[in-house]
Amino acid sequence: MKNRPLKLPNKDIVQRYKLRKPLYVTRPFLPALADLNKYLKKIWKSQWVTNNGVNHVLLEKKLAAYLKVKNNSLFCNGTLALQLAVNALRLTGEVITTPFTFAATPHVLYWNNIRPVFCDIQEDTYNLDVHKIESLITPETTAILAVHVFGNPCDVEALEKIAQNHGLKIIYDAAHAFGVEVNGVGIGNFGDASMFSFHATKIFSTIEGGCLACRSSDIKERVDYLRNFGIKSEEEIVVPGINAKMNEIQAAIGLIQLKAVDREIKKRKRLIEFYKEGLKNVPGIILPRYLDNVKYNYQSFVVRINGQEYGTSRDCLYGLLRQMNIVARKYFYPLCSHYSCYKSLPSANPVNLPVAEKISKEVLSLPLYGELTKEEVNLICNILKDIHHENKKA
Ligand SMILES: *Cc1c(COP(=O)(O)O)cnc(C)c1O
Repeated sequence: MKNRPLKLPNKDIVQRYKLRKPLYVTRPFLPALADLNKYLKKIWKSQWVTNNGVNHVLLEKKLAAYLKVKNNSLFCNGTLALQLAVNALRLTGEVITTPFTFAATPHVLYWNNIRPVFCDIQEDTYNLDVHKIESLITPETTAILAVHVFGNPCDVEALEKIAQNHGLKIIYDAAHAFGVEVNGVGIGNFGDASMFSFHATKIFSTIEGGCLACRSSDIKERVDYLRNFGIKSEEEIVVPGINAKMNEIQAAIGLIQLKAVDREIKKRKRLIEFYKEGLKNVPGIILPRYLDNVKYNYQSFVVRINGQEYGTSRDCLYGLLRQMNIVARKYFYPLCSHYSCYKSLPSANPVNLPVAEKISKEVLSLPLYGELTKEEVNLICNILKDIHHENKKA
C-alpha cells in the first residue's frame, strides 16, 4: 500500500467532468463600469489625474480607517511600497525572511542590496517558524521580513519579542492580509511597517496598487518623499526617491471597491463553508485552519494533498484538474529558495527548510472568488472525492 505509485487515474474521470469554460483560481473583482464612469468624468473635468489628487487623499484616509492603522501611504503597487519601506527603515546586511511566498518578497531585499536569509516555516500557518529564527541571526542581521501568507496572521507576539531582544526591525508583507484582524486589532499595526497589495488578484484591488502602514509618522514622511522623487517643494529634493505614486484612476477604483469589499469577503466566506463541508471526510486532503480570534479576509482557499493518503500526488491532481479545465494553482511552488537567483545562498539549502520543502509540494489553491457559485464548489468537491475513490480502487 505504502509504496504504490501515485499514478494518474483512468481517463473516464476527465471525460466525465471536463468543463467547457475554464474555472480559474481567481477572477478580478471589478467595479461596475457605470460607477467608474462617474469618477472618470470628474477626473477628466478637473484635469487632476495624479500627484496627490482628491481621490488619492480620500482613499488614503478611508483605508487608514478600514485597516484601523494610524499612518497610511498609497503606492502604484505593493512591491514598491515594500521596497521603499525597507529603504526608509535603513535596513542593511541581512534580513531573515520566508521562502514560502511570492517572488516580490525576497526581490525587494535584493533591490536594497540586502541578502535574504531564508528561515523555515510552521506547518499550521505556513508562516515563519518563530522557533527557528534566532539561530539565523548574525551581527549583519537588521530585520525580519515576515509574510502573513494567504492572510494567515504570523505569530506577531513572538516575532515582536525576538525583534526586541536582538534590536531588529520587523516588516510585514501583508499583501494577502487586507482587512485581517487579530483580537480586533488591524493586522497593519504590528511591526514597523506592513504592506498591503491591491493587485487585481487580491481581495481589494485598484488593478495595480498598494499601501504601506507605518508605526512611526517619521517613517511615513520618508516613504512619502521616496515615492515622489524625494520632492519636498519646487526647489527642494530631500532624498533620492523614485516614482511609486498611485494615480487618480486607481484611487477612484479603490474608493468604489472599498464599499464593496465586505460583501465580497462575505460571499467567499460562504463558499469556503461549502468547500469545508464537501471536503471534510476526504482522506489526504488537509483543510486550512481558522482561529476564533482572527477576522479573516478569505483571500484564498488553500488545501494540502497528502499523496499517500489521497492516492494521488498534488502534481497529478493538479494535472488532472487542468485537463478538466479547472485551473488550480500551486501557490507557493517552487519556493523562493529554489529560484536560480537565490539557490546558491547558504540559507537556501533544502536541508535547512524541511517544512517549507514539504508544504510547497503539497499545497493547492482551489478556485475562490465572489462570483463562483455553490454548484461550482460542490462540483469541485465531487471531482476531488471521485479522484480519491478511483485511485483507492486501483
Ligand atoms: C501580490 C504580492 C506581492 C506584490 O504585490 P504587487 O501589488 O503585485 O506589487 C508581494 N508579496 C506577496 C506575498 C504577494 O502575493
